[in-house]
Formats: sequence, structure tokens, C-alpha cells
Amino acid sequence: MTHTKPRVRFAPSPTGMMHLGNIRTALLNYLFAHQKGGTFVLRIEDTDPERNFDPNATHIINDLIWLGLTYDEGPRVDGPYGPYFQSKRSDLYAKKLQELQDKNAVYRCFCTPEELERKRKRQLALKRPPRYDQTCLHLTDTQIAQKLDTEAPFIWRLNTTDNRTITFNDMARGTMEFHLKDFSDIPLTRTDGSFTFTFANCVDDGLMKITHVLRGEDHISNTTSQVVLYEALGLQVPTFWHIPIMCNIEGKKLSKRDFGFSLKDLQDAGFISEAILNYLGIIGGSFEQEIMSLEKLVQLFPFDAIHSTGHIKYDVEKLKWINHKWLSSYDTAQLTDMCLPRLIEAYPIAEAVNPETMRHLIGIIKPELVTLNDCVELIRFYFETPSVKQEQLKKTIRPEKHEALIAILKETVVSLDNPDTYMELTKQKAKSSGINSKELWSSVRFILTGNVEGMGIHDIIDLLGIEEVKKRIHSVLD
Ligand code: GLU
Repeated sequence: MTHTKPRVRFAPSPTGMMHLGNIRTALLNYLFAHQKGGTFVLRIEDTDPERNFDPNATHIINDLIWLGLTYDEGPRVDGPYGPYFQSKRSDLYAKKLQELQDKNAVYRCFCTPEELERKRKRQLALKRPPRYDQTCLHLTDTQIAQKLDTEAPFIWRLNTTDNRTITFNDMARGTMEFHLKDFSDIPLTRTDGSFTFTFANCVDDGLMKITHVLRGEDHISNTTSQVVLYEALGLQVPTFWHIPIMCNIEGKKLSKRDFGFSLKDLQDAGFISEAILNYLGIIGGSFEQEIMSLEKLVQLFPFDAIHSTGHIKYDVEKLKWINHKWLSSYDTAQLTDMCLPRLIEAYPIAEAVNPETMRHLIGIIKPELVTLNDCVELIRFYFETPSVKQEQLKKTIRPEKHEALIAILKETVVSLDNPDTYMELTKQKAKSSGINSKELWSSVRFILTGNVEGMGIHDIIDLLGIEEVKKRIHSVLD
């Protein structure tokens, strides 16, 4: 038995932005290649010019770089089986089509889309699989010549007239079996002469020596046709893993309407690549330790023990928890660099803040950060004086204690030069007036930051400085 190193590929169509589903496919291919000492190829399936929204696959490539999913062969990374854009491989498909023509394995189909649709509906009405009835397989040479003379549009189909059972190996499902009698003769070209997805994708996997095809479950119906094609072309049939589709929390297929569907949503909201990969790596599985780096996932992903699961649920709350864990794992200086662009965007003055103060600020809010964007709200009070009215304090304290609280806070403000004394004195006075600590400090926090909850009063004083704290207290109470 020969042991070849696995070769896997991520083969996105550049029809939109990267989303969670295709990032997960890319990730699993990356993990597989790295775990098995194989090669990870990026191939851009851009055969549909009308749906090509990312002509040079710039977005896809940049997203993969941002995620840290580096590929070994693909656009901008030369390899032995290029080019890696399908739009540049037409001559290779033409050659393979010629091989099939030479073997008499294909035929021209002149049926119009309307005719095909009529036939399909008829088959369905008869409760039969809607397979193509092979009208054009039976055309005589003269009939074909006549049609060609009139320049009637046609496509090439693979002739699959036999009753074979097709099998292939799926890493989660084991041996899969399909009966060819349920399948139409596979279209290999379109009427404009371009090649179909089924054909190009299969020729490429064959020529690029792909050993394992890890792709979304929605492609399972293409696989049977492609296995027939591999065999017709004399290409090695790969092993497959049809990866379960991701659903939203209600069990519906994930769509643009679900927050975090596109990578851009997540980047804009301040999720970091480690967390996104970590989440997509553990989703649907069970791991003892849930927080894992890409390297750890490479080591631990159980490729040798995957089994078929139902749909996988995307839970943004879990993703947030993982993002929070990853952000907490950064040291404060790194985290400050990560937050700074967002802070400067929200508060241009942030650029002038002394780096040490900035690190201090970030260090204090670090335990509260779920996404990087959270820093903007958590630190707002530092850059903007909240507009708090004395009246509003009625909400932070029982109404009957409102006046007493104001009197105490006015009285103790002078002791602020020593924050410890201030805190102690204010606490004592509040206590003797029957005000509990929670309502006391919530009120002070509200005056200073505009929020009832948040960081400790000591930290706030420390950050704002004594003079600013005095100013804020006076402006609300006087
Ligand atoms: N271009 C196809 C897609 O984006 C690739 C399918 C495959 O991986 O074979 O769905």
C-alpha cells in the first residue's frame, strides 16, 4: 500500500463575503492538512462571471490571512498544479472533455431549458426521479449534423446509461451508495461552451491530486455524479467528508440575517481571529478543554473518529464567551494596541493620551471586555463627561434616602484629596444614615461615569484624577 501525503483544498466561489460556513470548511481543511502532514490548497472557483464579486479573490485571500489560515498552494503561492483560478484552467477542462469525446463517453444534448423543465415536471408527476430521459443520446448522426448546421445551442453530457451502484467513502458516514438510475446524464458544459461546476470541480480535484474533499453537506448530491466522472476520466476518487451545515439557534440554515454570519460583521464587532477559529473548531464536537489555539486544534481535532451529526447550531453567546476568554488571555499592552484604533475612532483625543495611562485604562476594563468594541462604551466616561442630573439619583437610591445621600456626598467631597479617607468617611456617614453600600457606590458611580454598574470607585478616581472627580460631583450636586 502506498502512503501518500494528504492533499486537501478549500474551493470557494468568489460570490460574496466569507461567512461562517465557508470559514469552517477552510478551517477543517487546514486542520486536516496540518494534522496529517499534508498540503492545504486554495482554489478559486470563479467559473460564473456573473456572480464573481471578488475578481482576484482579494477578499478571500485577505480574510484567510487575517484568520491565520495560510495555504501551501494557491493564488499568489505558486505550486505544481496551478493555475489556481478556475477561470484560467479552461484549456485543461477542454482537454479532459476531448478525452471523453475520444472514448465516446459523452454526447451533445440540444434540449432547450423549457423542454427539460417540461420533462422534469412530467417525471415528478409520475413520481419518478426527475432524471433526463436521454432523448439526445439517441439522435442519429444526420440529426446531429442538421442541428449543428442550424447552430442550435447544445451542451455536452456524460453518458451514464447503466444500472451501476456508485459507492464512495465519507469520513463520517462510511461507505455511501447511490444508484445511477436515479441520476441524469451529467452536464459537463453550458450552452456558451463554458464548463459546469460539477465537471470543473472534479477535473481540478483530480489534476490537483486532492486526496480528501472536505466540503459542505449541501454538495453530497454532486458527489455521486463526480465519482462517475472521476472514473470516466481515470482519475483517483478522493475520500470525502460532507461537513454538517450550520444552523441558527432556531434550527434554520444560517443566513445573512443572523448576526455574525459574515466575517465582516464579526470583525467590525470586535471579535478576534483566535476566538472565531476556536469556536468554529469546537462547534458540534465535545472537547475536554474548550479554549484552544489553532495549533492545539491541529493536534486534537478528532478526524479519525468523526461521525455523522445532525445540523450544527451556531450560538453567538458561546462565541462571545470564547472571545472574552481570548481577550483576557492577552497581556494588557497587547490588548491596548488592539483597542486603540477603536478608541481613537470614537474619541480622536485618545491618540494624545499617554500610553501608560491608556494601558492602565485597558487593564481596568479588561475583565469586562467581551468584544474589542466594548472598550468604547466601557471607557466613554474617561473621554466624555456624562450628563447626569441630580433628579436621576432618585433611581439609584430609595427615594427617602435621596436627600441624605446628596448631603453626605456634598460634605465628603473635601476629603477626596486622599481617596482612601474619602471612601471610608463616605461609607461611615452613609451607614449611619441607613444607606447601604450598594446604593451608595452605585450612585457615586452614576455621577462619575453615567453608569450604575461598572468598575470600582477607586479605579474610577484613579483614572479620572481627583480634580476631575471633584468637578463631576460638584456639577451634579451643586
Ligand atoms: N465552489 C464550491 C462552493 O463554494 C466548492 C465546493 C467544493 O468544495 O467542492 O460551494
